[in-house]
Amino acid sequence: MKTSRRACAVFIFLLGAAGAAGAGEPAPIRTVAHVHSAYSGRKAPDMRLTLEIARQRGIEAVIFTDDAIADFEYGLWPLRRLIKAAVNRTSILRAGPSLYLEHIASLRKAFPKMIIIPGVEAAPYYYWSGSPFSSLTINDWNKHLSVAGLERPEDYEDLPVLGNRRLDRFAFGSLWPLLLLAGAALLGKARRRRSAAVAGAVGVLFLLNNFPFKTPAFSPYDPSAGWKPYEAVAAYADAKGFLCFWNHAEAPNWKTPYRLGPRVFTRTAPYPGCLQAVPQTDGFGALLEGDRTMTRPSGEWDQALGDYVQGRRKKAPWGFGELDYVGEGARGMTITSVSMDVHASSRNAAALLEALKAGRFETVAPEKGRALSLKTWRVQSEGRSAGSGETLTGAAHPAIRISMEPVGDSTMTVRVSLIRNGIVISHQTVTSPFSIAVPDDLGGEKRAFYRLDARWGANGALLSNPIFVFND
Ligand SMILES: [Zn+2]
Repeated sequence: MKTSRRACAVFIFLLGAAGAAGAGEPAPIRTVAHVHSAYSGRKAPDMRLTLEIARQRGIEAVIFTDDAIADFEYGLWPLRRLIKAAVNRTSILRAGPSLYLEHIASLRKAFPKMIIIPGVEAAPYYYWSGSPFSSLTINDWNKHLSVAGLERPEDYEDLPVLGNRRLDRFAFGSLWPLLLLAGAALLGKARRRRSAAVAGAVGVLFLLNNFPFKTPAFSPYDPSAGWKPYEAVAAYADAKGFLCFWNHAEAPNWKTPYRLGPRVFTRTAPYPGCLQAVPQTDGFGALLEGDRTMTRPSGEWDQALGDYVQGRRKKAPWGFGELDYVGEGARGMTITSVSMDVHASSRNAAALLEALKAGRFETVAPEKGRALSLKTWRVQSEGRSAGSGETLTGAAHPAIRISMEPVGDSTMTVRVSLIRNGIVISHQTVTSPFSIAVPDDLGGEKRAFYRLDARWGANGALLSNPIFVFND
């Protein structure tokens, strides 16, 4: 890590356990996201069981993101629709969004103190490569976006993902076999019966293949779609006010082709470039599977934040915590492996989503049950201050105040980095509980973002969301 020469003196003083908490501020809502249930298949548990476990572990809000649709198919050219193999897995659109939402409603009654938010994990697109006669690969099947806050059946039905057949559009060009039938009729009139029969049979065959004369927005046989299918989902979520963030962008699981069947493989290369490629999302799963290059100082997250600060993108990208939970202990994960402390104005679903969209939260991954809580995270200047996700204006010499407490009563050694515009301006190893004030000088820089990266043990982590300073 680089440390700026401009880093100023750092004042550290230990505080009593209660001393750092902001007076009168409501306690953050401990929230877990990217939770699968039986609606995703994969042996994931029923939602009720997950909510029971979450409640027992002190989690107050659960964002379910079950598979929107998990169907894929390969058809043999030129009769792709007639000669095909298809896999249809359990998903919300297969089960029916109304049923899913009724289930959510009954759970809200059964767990009145918990905030339960329904949503999807969307796989917007995939494309095939290779040949069925040697080996076939389904690409980008695991490039996913979480979309949360979908409260009406049509919110699911209108989701622009490949496989959602409801959105396929009429394709005039797919009526071309009618020309063959017209040709067959002319040949018949000319008494060329054999030619007429062949043209007629081929025409009928392709007419059947092309029925119902609709095509998806993006073809799974054309790899040129690039980021467009993902832009479509992000734009849909943005227009409807849903929360939308990238999932597991740096997961290495699917980097090398994984065998699905005798000659069929699946492959999804990590996609850390997603944040800049699709600027309409609310951010990305920083912990745990976006924590390789994306969260590094000057990494993809800081580059996207720089784009926001410089006015090149409308939305600031936030760093989310996501579990990809499919059951207690599955893939080495538990319901407490990563969570978010969300600073919402009140304890309900709408306020929680609003706070998440505004970046008023931090993400924590405990190490062996040892976790930290961020008590103070503010940038202040001349009696004014801004917190997580907020912007302070007219502050050339701001001071950054940070305080943390361990969850429980054990003290911990914590490595704390304060990052400004992608550069570490202060790196300290401190014992928690602690409080730090870092005076800064923005010099000639008109706009800045600050964020906090705290680590303990081998893999304990707390990532704040940014605070902005605009001086122009
Ligand atoms: Zn996923």
